[in-house]
Amino acid sequence: MTESDPSETLFERIIAREIPADIVHETDTTLAFRDISPQAATHVLVVPKTRYRNVGELAAADPALLADVIATAHRVAELDGLTDSGYRVVFNTGADAGQTVFHVHAHVLGGEQLGQFGRYAGGPDAG
Ligand code: AMP
Repeated sequence: MTESDPSETLFERIIAREIPADIVHETDTTLAFRDISPQAATHVLVVPKTRYRNVGELAAADPALLADVIATAHRVAELDGLTDSGYRVVFNTGADAGQTVFHVHAHVLGGEQLGQFGRYAGGPDAG
């Protein structure tokens, strides 16, 4: 076990209600709560209650649970009134994508016009 691979992450502690979170929706298999540092008017994280490090591991081990995560993401969009205006679902995976918590989570973003995404704005090609 390394520091970047702790046996317990922040999100297990939120699922266990050991750390407070602004929970917006819960199912038998998933939990959705608002991101503490929102990057859009709606920014909600959806986690499976069972821990996998990233979306690839989740897809390989339990595709039905991945479908539950996506269904909960859509439900969050419905609850926040985003289904007509649109929303984005993002799984950051690994260092280049900026993943910081190694319990797979979907970011649900919307509620305003979102920016483009892709290359790091401060990267070597930045003007
Ligand atoms: P990622 O960078 O894709 O691993 O996303 C981790 C996300 O967790 C970031 O957007 C953080 O703002 C968010 N985050 C960190 N701590 C908390 C917390 N206590 N409650 C809610 N969101 C959090």
